[in-house]
Amino acid sequence: MIPGARLIILGRQGAGKGTQCVRLSRHYVVPHISTGDMLRTSAREGTELGLMAKQIMDAGGLVGDEVMIGLVGERVRKPDADTRGYILDGFPRTVAQAEALARITADKPLHAVIDLDVPREIVLERISSRRVCRDCGTNYTAGPVVPSPWICDVCGGDVAQRADDTPDSVNRRLDLYETQTSPLIAHYSKLGMLAVVNGIGHPDHVFKRLCDAVEARR
Ligand code: AMP
Repeated sequence: MIPGARLIILGRQGAGKGTQCVRLSRHYVVPHISTGDMLRTSAREGTELGLMAKQIMDAGGLVGDEVMIGLVGERVRKPDADTRGYILDGFPRTVAQAEALARITADKPLHAVIDLDVPREIVLERISSRRVCRDCGTNYTAGPVVPSPWICDVCGGDVAQRADDTPDSVNRRLDLYETQTSPLIAHYSKLGMLAVVNGIGHPDHVFKRLCDAVEARR
């Protein structure tokens, strides 16, 4: 394993992207840059950006391109990401964001864009049982008996359902994925940067497929 990589992981919400990105970021020793996590942190801190983003997130909408491009542009220039690389999770989500990212990374281009492919019917099922630690973001799956209170095994934080994981909001986000984000698959495919990885199966097998796809392109 050679540390360092600059990657984008695309995929529907609930495709297991977050968990796989955390593993990839440990494997390649690079920061995991999740724009959703950045916005949720700002919302918890009550910043102006956070309060604006929370309303949009809870309704299942997309935060404006300009704001997102500014946030990510700043983050990838920080020393850790600038020297070792990064895993981008949740960005870009529109073609305008992808075009801006190409400008931002012109001197250090991405190694690969991976589409973690899980069909809509399956992600809908997964999201309804998804629970997340409010502090460290670790994902859990709720079974028939849900612990109350549910304490995170990793950091001792509160495990709960995300405010935007309601059926209406999830459907809206998945619709937005089809209209706004899935065109990125054709966009990166034309540029010869895309690898599609089957996201169904045991998480360890999916992880191995992701690493193989990265190694084939790095
Ligand atoms: P996620 O955790 O990636 O599912 O993101 C949660 C929510 O944050 C999304 O439903 C959007 O409202 C917002 N968000 C995250 N990343 C972006 C982005 N790149 N562009 C626009 N909105 C975003």
